[in-house]
Amino acid sequence: MADPECIFCKIIAGELPAKIVDEDERTIAFMDIAPATRGHALVIPRAHAVDLLSVAPEDLEGVARAAQRLAGRMRERLGADGVNLLNSCGATAWQTVFHFHVHVIPRYEGDPLRLPWVPSAGDSQEIAAAAQELSVQ
Ligand code: AMP
Ligand code: ZN
Repeated sequence: MADPECIFCKIIAGELPAKIVDEDERTIAFMDIAPATRGHALVIPRAHAVDLLSVAPEDLEGVARAAQRLAGRMRERLGADGVNLLNSCGATAWQTVFHFHVHVIPRYEGDPLRLPWVPSAGDSQEIAAAAQELSVQ
């Protein structure tokens, strides 16, 4: 279940220090050591899975529930005005630690975070073509 090389598995095993803020049967949540904003935390499944595509559905559900709990506490206790959930799946998508995790990032009015893309109208034919490729049937 655990990957001996994985730093998040080491946190779960108590072999690396972490500021744990939530735990349940399937998940733990701890503070990110390089926070994007005050209170930035990570939620991970106890069972090692590399990423979104390989995590067990029950663990994904547990992580989502824990992230929702944390988001509520960020609003109540830290005074967050909003919250971002972020998951990076794959190195191209910025994943750097290959144990599935969801960032729970409290947002504050006037904080310095910005969307990493500039929204602008897309090409409708290209959107439709991608939709066709993505569709269930
Ligand atoms: P990602 O780049 O989405 O894979 O996120 C990995 C996150 O893990 C980064 O935000 C790091 O700051 C964080 N991180 C790496 N090592 C540790 C650690 N030992 N304790 C807490 N957070 C960590
Ligand atoms: Zn791991």
